[in-house]
Amino acid sequence: MNNQLHELLKQSSARHDHLCPRQVLGVRMGLAGLAAIGLEAPMPHKAALVILETDGCFADGVEVASGAVVGHRTLRIVDQGKIAATFANVESGQTVRLAPSLDVRQRALKYAPEIKKKYYAQLKGYQIMPETELFTFQEVKLEPALKLIISRPGLKAKCANCGEEIINERQVCAEGKVLCRTCAGERYYNSLEITL
Ligand SMILES: [Zn+2]
Ligand SMILES: [Zn+2]
Repeated sequence: MNNQLHELLKQSSARHDHLCPRQVLGVRMGLAGLAAIGLEAPMPHKAALVILETDGCFADGVEVASGAVVGHRTLRIVDQGKIAATFANVESGQTVRLAPSLDVRQRALKYAPEIKKKYYAQLKGYQIMPETELFTFQEVKLEPALKLIISRPGLKAKCANCGEEIINERQVCAEGKVLCRTCAGERYYNSLEITL
């Protein structure tokens, strides 16, 4: 195992009190994903947008390796419940989605034949397998487009229904009104408030 990987796994596992195969996948995906869009890890300031398809241990691995963070708006989660992530180069626009090879668990065992327990064989195998065996790489186009996701600082709108402020051009136009997504029906909660 090289020093960079060792150091990153240490950082990731320190957040958890354990090192698990998903963190290894995350760290390796963070490194491989940036390389696939022509960037070194950790990314130069705001050079990439990383979209994770799940949260949890995997996400921490990608974070420590890529340097993507929510606070810099370089990290987002679109929760599809998958160990996968898409890496977009903000300058060139090149965008690549990485996911583990479908048979990655089986393949990992071959790299650690001396280890009987599958979990530990995967933990080790994932650290030493070549990237091309570990992941599939797919060129993709973001929808909505990268520019719209990043938007511009300082833009503000006000929802005609709830009155709340909306930043980053996340408002929608419906029936001639400017609405927040929640009021337009794209909601992740229902109000329990009793209206008198
Ligand atoms: Zn874990
Ligand atoms: Zn609203």
